[in-house]
Amino acid sequence: MNEWETVIGLEVHVELSTATKLFCGCPNEFGAEPNTNVCPVCLGLPGSLPVLNEQAVEYALRVGEALHFTVPERSIFHRKNYFYPDMPKDYQVSQYDEPICVDGRLDVDGVEVGIERAHLEEDTGKTLHVGGGGRIHEAEHSLVDYNRAGVPLMEIVGRPDLRGPEQARAYVGELRAVLQAIGVSDVKMEEGSLRVDANVSIRPAGTQELGTKVEIKNMNSLRSLGRALEYEVERQVALLEAGERVAQETRHWDEEDGRTHGMRSKEEAFDYRYFPEPDLVPVVPDRAWRERVRARCPSCRRPGGRASSTSGASPSTTPGCWWGRRGWPSGPRWRWPRSTAARPGTS
Ligand SMILES: [Zn+2]
Repeated sequence: MNEWETVIGLEVHVELSTATKLFCGCPNEFGAEPNTNVCPVCLGLPGSLPVLNEQAVEYALRVGEALHFTVPERSIFHRKNYFYPDMPKDYQVSQYDEPICVDGRLDVDGVEVGIERAHLEEDTGKTLHVGGGGRIHEAEHSLVDYNRAGVPLMEIVGRPDLRGPEQARAYVGELRAVLQAIGVSDVKMEEGSLRVDANVSIRPAGTQELGTKVEIKNMNSLRSLGRALEYEVERQVALLEAGERVAQETRHWDEEDGRTHGMRSKEEAFDYRYFPEPDLVPVVPDRAWRERVRARCPSCRRPGGRASSTSGASPSTTPGCWWGRRGWPSGPRWRWPRSTAARPGTS
């Protein structure tokens, strides 16, 4: 029997806990009456114009510091074109080839996991399928709620550096702790503020070439992430050991039957026709702003550029790292400390 190596890369979408949405003044809150937090901008009505939320950029800069990203001089927004009923404009404003954060990393139990990029984008609305068990194909009708449309998201794209379901869970757990501690998100997987998609492939141990990857969606907790990955790894190993091939496709995790199911193959992959968003200027955070963020996050970027990987400890257990796992103690919304003396752990 062959020895197989598992290769996993995770894409994490995190909703930023700004007061308002990414391009308009509508409240960014979970659980409001459907279609009450909406305006011409986030409904995509003709003639409306977006204005970028400064707080979202600030939060992106914090993520840049905490995850050791390079933040280029400028980044720009693109339109990602596709049709979906819960997306009012039929395109999503996102970042494409010039994202706000590139080439970061996260230390997971002593292993450095690379992060290719993190970019800002707007969330879509939500559809609710009524009847037929909530599935679109059997539903009697569907309802749409645009409250979430335009909520700021960061998509954090990890490199395929993870070697098993357990490590993937640890990565998400650590990432969640960091994002919560720097106060950019409430990171509630059950409310969808943190969502994870996984790319999984298998290759013979000791080889370098990547196997055919399968993308898995719809994992709503750390537990379901672990279960889905374990199932998928076993499925792929069984295929390869039976002499069959793994199809490149997107698969949907079903929590109830404990399996992944094929959704669409890559042959039907979308062409998103990205083009630069003409209604928004480039994002160019000036040096003073960057310095301010860096100064207030002193342990995120130490001399030598490592937060904790020399000791192999997580940020929460590293001496001198003032943002601990429990986060900022002064209330639900994190605020920058006024002075060094105000930081927990240094007084
Ligand atoms: Zn709005």
